Amino acid sequence: MRRLYPFIERSGLLDRMDPALYHREPVRADADVRIRYLGTAGFVVSVRDHTIVLDPYVSRPGGRQTLFRHLIPDSDRIRRYLPAADDVLIGHAHHDHVLDAPELCRQTGARFIGSRDACNVARAAGLPESQLVETAGREDIPSGPGMVRGIPSAHGRVYFNRVALAGNIEKPPPWPPKVGDLRHGLVFNWYLELGGVRVVHIDSAELFEHELSGVECDVLCLCAIGRAYRPGYTEDAIRILKPKVVLPCHWDLFTTPIEDEPFLLPGVDVPGFVDEIRATGTESVVLPFLGEYGYAR
Ligand SMILES: [Zn+2]
Repeated sequence: MRRLYPFIERSGLLDRMDPALYHREPVRADADVRIRYLGTAGFVVSVRDHTIVLDPYVSRPGGRQTLFRHLIPDSDRIRRYLPAADDVLIGHAHHDHVLDAPELCRQTGARFIGSRDACNVARAAGLPESQLVETAGREDIPSGPGMVRGIPSAHGRVYFNRVALAGNIEKPPPWPPKVGDLRHGLVFNWYLELGGVRVVHIDSAELFEHELSGVECDVLCLCAIGRAYRPGYTEDAIRILKPKVVLPCHWDLFTTPIEDEPFLLPGVDVPGFVDEIRATGTESVVLPFLGEYGYAR
């Protein structure tokens, strides 16, 4: 099956990401936490030998397969790019957030932590109950030397000011799934405390101030898509969470291989997003795929 991207590339309809925007500095030697970007909303957060993976999506099936066929996790790529995981956190159950997580948990023995909707996807994939941690959020879940907490949020609006594939996953969907089988379900912003560093991950452009009261962070992984449809999105996120550094994510067209230079999702303006972050006096770090950033307290 040929991917759609050569057509897209030739079409001239989409822009490539400008590599000049990337943070290229090596990880500082005194980093307390290391954060690796996987493309889409995917990150690996690690401290010493404890590894938390958020929204892994390295399979990235092509456009035609995504739209019309079954979505099959690429176990070789998962093994290659994600050799270790202790906990895998899911922000919501859309395919570009959940598809690879059950296979990653199967390969590594990691726990799969997410909403009932996300856990039903893991059940469909055959992951045993002993590896599932189902949460409705607002609870601290111990994770290695730290903890994680799902903070209830909602799915941001994206194209045409609409929420794509809304709804819940009440029972395990067909497996392998089609894109329409994977509704977003309950959406979380994730809060992590690891190595004395606080990380918040927002994988869809929405956040609720009342849910985030008292939550502040050092590093904020902030979704770019949908930013234009959520008034005050960047300013609100930074005002409430007071991060020292923001890592923009979910700016890439997710139907091209992780090994290729990425295209931008239509309508996503990364330089504008970076300017907005910097206008608040906060550092912005745009990582290339598989790029790594180290945060020191
Ligand atoms: Zn989504």
